[in-house]
Order: sequence, then C-alpha cells, then structure tokens
Amino acid sequence: NHLPEHIRQKVFNHPCYSEEAHHYFARMHVAVAPACNIQCNYCNRKYDCANESRPGVVSELHHPDQAVKKVLAVAATIPQMTVLGIAGPGDPLANPERTFSTFRQLAEQAPDIKLCVSTNGLSLPEHVEELSKHNIDHVTITINCVDPDVGAQIYPWIFWKNKRIKGREAAAILIEQQQKGLEMLVARGILVKVNSVMIPGVNDKHLEEVSKIVKSKGAFLHNVMPLISEAEHGTFYGLTGQRGPTHDELQALQDACAGDMNMMRHCRQCRADAVGLLGEDRGAEFTMDKIEAME
Ligand code: SF4
Ligand code: SF4
Repeated sequence: NHLPEHIRQKVFNHPCYSEEAHHYFARMHVAVAPACNIQCNYCNRKYDCANESRPGVVSELHHPDQAVKKVLAVAATIPQMTVLGIAGPGDPLANPERTFSTFRQLAEQAPDIKLCVSTNGLSLPEHVEELSKHNIDHVTITINCVDPDVGAQIYPWIFWKNKRIKGREAAAILIEQQQKGLEMLVARGILVKVNSVMIPGVNDKHLEEVSKIVKSKGAFLHNVMPLISEAEHGTFYGLTGQRGPTHDELQALQDACAGDMNMMRHCRQCRADAVGLLGEDRGAEFTMDKIEAME
C-alpha cells in the first residue's frame, strides 16, 4: 500500500492497517461498551455497533476485569495477537469508565499489545487527553457525512448534555464534534482512520467530499464500508428498510475516493468480540466460561 514511511513504521504489524500484515498478525476486540449516545438509522441496538462491526450476532458483554483476563488468555494462546480494539457493542467513548479501565489495566499488564478504539465521535473531544495517556495510537471515527442535511437522514437523535436532540440540529452537533475530535487527535500525533457507512441514496454521492475533508485534516486511511442490508442477512438492519450498496457501487465509490486518499479495502467489518486473524473468528474458543476453566 501507499502509506508514508513514518506511518508504515507504526502500522506494519497492525492487521487492519496493512494489507500484508493481516495475513500474519491477529487482532481481537472485546465487547465492554454497551451504551450509545446517538441513534443511527441503520442500528437497532440488538447488534454490534457499525462503527467497526457486523450485525447479526449479539456479543458476549464483558466487565473490564473479565475483558482483561480474556485478552491475556488469548495473547498466551495466539502469539500473533498484536492489537486489541474496543469497538462496541455500543460506543466505547459513551462508556468511558469501562473502556478506560480496560485500557489502563492492559497498558500495565500487556504493554506490548497495541490498543485501538472506534467511536461515533460525539464525545471524542473530551476524551482525547485521556486517550493520549494510554498509548493508544489508533482511533477510528465513523464519519458518514459533513453536511447536517445529509446527517438528519442518518441520525434521528443524539443524547447531548443530558438532553435528547433531534434532526438537523443533532446532526450539526455530531459533525462538529467529529471534526473537532479528528483535528485534536491529529494534533497529538494519534493516527486516525475514518470509517464511513455507504448508504445508497443518502450519502453515497456525498462521501467523496467527506473523504477529501478528512484527508485534508490528516486522517491516514478512509474505510468505506457497505451498509449491510436486511435482505443480505435475513435480519432486520436499517430502520428505514434501506438497501445496501452492490459490490460494484461500493467499488466505484472506493475508486473515486482513492484519488484523494489511502483507501482501506480489506476491512472485514469484524464483530465487536472478534478474535484471530482477519477473516477468521476464533471468538467461540474464548468465551468467558472457557477462560474461567483455563485457570
Ligand atoms: Fe448503533 Fe453504533 Fe450508531 Fe450507536 S454509533 S447507534 S451503537 S451503529
Ligand atoms: Fe480491522 Fe475492520 Fe476488523 Fe476493525 S472491523 S478489526 S478495522 S478488519
């Protein structure tokens, strides 16, 4: 891939950021973050957050102490495990105590494991300081729009300063927080990847502009993910009954954005509790009852 050398140095053993590395290094997600502070039209909360992950199966939710145990057990079994991410099932930064307790313990007990987190960005600015303390060098922000009129079609509401805010006003606040968080992270030298969910007829035309803007602000990778529709999964995903993009539509958009930006094309939209190499999920080997039994 075409990443600049100083970024390549940081991500060479990160399976998500290097096309080559994903064959050799493993990643793991722990599901410690149940709550969310916004509503996306494509989420019905029964499944994992689309910040990073695939709907369809509810993750086993962990207490931070259990999650740490699990990570240590997996790292002992799978030596290629280099990266631990928190991606859901809700928004990790809407559960700051749980998320940061997990990171704090891991930074102490397993300092070689890289930590990363994904977020919708709403409460990102207030957590940038804390993120920079835990040696978290990768943050993924899901940015589906930079225009509140588009956002109003994606986000029915946000929960902000103890109030529920709806429509265009809600989208405007979310967008502002996402952009501010992105700028603050880049200013501190924390790598930022942007995820966008491609929703045909809603933001498909708009995502090229999103790509340009996030690149100009210093995001190092843009990952356009398809909306996973109800039809494909035989499950209800998309409160508005929205269809997902076809393979060709997705590829055309990724090509259009690629002129401006490094595009990630091998993301597998892993579950919030995925374990192993990309494309494999060994999560079932490491359920909490099995980990307790290993001890
Ligand atoms: Fe669902 Fe994630 Fe959106 Fe929250 S940010 S509503 S968990 S998809
Ligand atoms: Fe990597 Fe994508 Fe899976 Fe996250 S969802 S662990 S970025 S492949």
